[in-house]
Amino acid sequence: MQRPTTFADARASFEDAEFVIVGVPFDRTTSFRPGARFGPDSIRMHSWNFESYDLETGIDLSDAPIHDLGNTEEFGSAADMVGALREEIRPIYAAKKVPIVLGGDHACSPPVVEAYPDDAPSLGVLYLDAHMDFRASYLGDARSHACSARRILEKVGARNIVVLGVRSVSHEEVDDNRSIGMSFVTAHEIAKEGISASVQRALNMLKTERIYLSLDIDAIDPAYAGGTGTPEPFGLTPRDVKYVIDQAAPRLAGLDIMEVSPHYDNGNTSALAARLAREAIARSLQARKGR
Ligand code: MN
Ligand code: MN
Repeated sequence: MQRPTTFADARASFEDAEFVIVGVPFDRTTSFRPGARFGPDSIRMHSWNFESYDLETGIDLSDAPIHDLGNTEEFGSAADMVGALREEIRPIYAAKKVPIVLGGDHACSPPVVEAYPDDAPSLGVLYLDAHMDFRASYLGDARSHACSARRILEKVGARNIVVLGVRSVSHEEVDDNRSIGMSFVTAHEIAKEGISASVQRALNMLKTERIYLSLDIDAIDPAYAGGTGTPEPFGLTPRDVKYVIDQAAPRLAGLDIMEVSPHYDNGNTSALAARLAREAIARSLQARKGR
């Protein structure tokens, strides 16, 4: 295994890069079992598993303009993490690059979206999650990972976020959702109508020029991605999520992969997360080249 401290093929300088990896080893808001702070380095390590040539797009990732900024520092509170991460991400968007943020618990997503400049092309968010993450506050913390979709909605507006893969909610979240009006597609609907119809439906709802993809790895079924803090049965398949990435890639403004908690499995979840990140880079590069 080579250089596990850097994401595979991340050889470009920050200036030359189009994709910038940032790790956030923060899991202080996990509500069931902790460990997502170890996600970023585990995903990086497993990223070396893969061949660099992508069969579908013809992109060789060893030539891809990727830079890895490494991990942020550690933080004592979610509020501290949020403030610092926003500032870390701003220069990436300002330089017209795509941030790829590896968590960390899902509390690390809202600051990445909040850093998106107000004068940039309009932004919609596809939020993949077993949970709705729609609490106003959880255990006294409005920045808990249980509140992340709600915080993102406050940045982009209710019409510009769609949650995919939901199958675990509180009564209160459903009631709040009814009055606030955030669109979501449940895992059960996806199983019934098929992933392509569901994704088309979600993408039709997002009228924005660009799309930010937030992937809580627990959107995927624990049979494939059990290395996570709150595993939830009846989830999506890895191929479903690959399909979402493929469809969103031409409009991709940013990506995060959160809640990988590597000590609960033998590395499958980290490998899957790494592969999905590489998939997003290859697809997005292909779309940029075709432009
Ligand atoms: Mn989540
Ligand atoms: Mn979740």
